[in-house]
Amino acid sequence: MLSPLATGIYAGIGAVAALGLAAGGCAYAAMWPGSQLFGRTLIAPRRPGELALTFDDGPNAAWTPRLLDILAGYDVRATFFLVGSHAQAEPELVRRIVAAGHLIGNHSWSHPNLALTSARRVREELTRTNQTLEEIAGAPVRYFRPPYGARRPVVLRVARELGMTPVLWNAMTSDWKEPSVERIIARLTSKIDRLERRGRAANIVLHDGSHREMAADRGPSMAAAGRLIERYKATHRFVTLDAWS
Ligand SMILES: [Zn+2]
Repeated sequence: MLSPLATGIYAGIGAVAALGLAAGGCAYAAMWPGSQLFGRTLIAPRRPGELALTFDDGPNAAWTPRLLDILAGYDVRATFFLVGSHAQAEPELVRRIVAAGHLIGNHSWSHPNLALTSARRVREELTRTNQTLEEIAGAPVRYFRPPYGARRPVVLRVARELGMTPVLWNAMTSDWKEPSVERIIARLTSKIDRLERRGRAANIVLHDGSHREMAADRGPSMAAAGRLIERYKATHRFVTLDAWS
């Protein structure tokens, strides 16, 4: 079964049928994190023992500072995919993230589904976010994660033209709507351990913000970040994405 989102994409990408891909293949290529059909993306290398913690949809005034405290407490660095409009509203928080040694990436300006967005708007979403982040942080942005993982060839092409590597993930659960820290941890550790058995590093997604409401509760996600570090710190190395490309 296609999810409602994937069904929407299926309806929206008729032009891609010209490439000769089956319709199911299009939805797969547009939405499935592991698909490389629309162009290569960074997920995780064959480096078992390495974990990248990545946090999407911030910065968030309520949750990001708590997360920074947790990461500092363990001396762990992470990657933050920031929503441009949130960054513009919280420039000091962006500077704190960078000053603490974390890596920041572009997560679009307003978090649309870029598989269904015009090429012109795709370019605006990515360019405006880069300009804002670079102005605040004073350094070029090298990584881009499409909202929902949704993409089509132009999305990846524009990202590369702007000097960014497109990034997806291989370990995610619905932490943004899961109140139980235990369940978030159980699902993520089973994915991480399975990747490990296959000889892969894990590119883990959690959310320190929300693209919909700034007041969203991210307590379970933040607690899960601390618990994951506790669980793996003795046996694994936590890296930022620039260690992999
Ligand atoms: Zn997002």
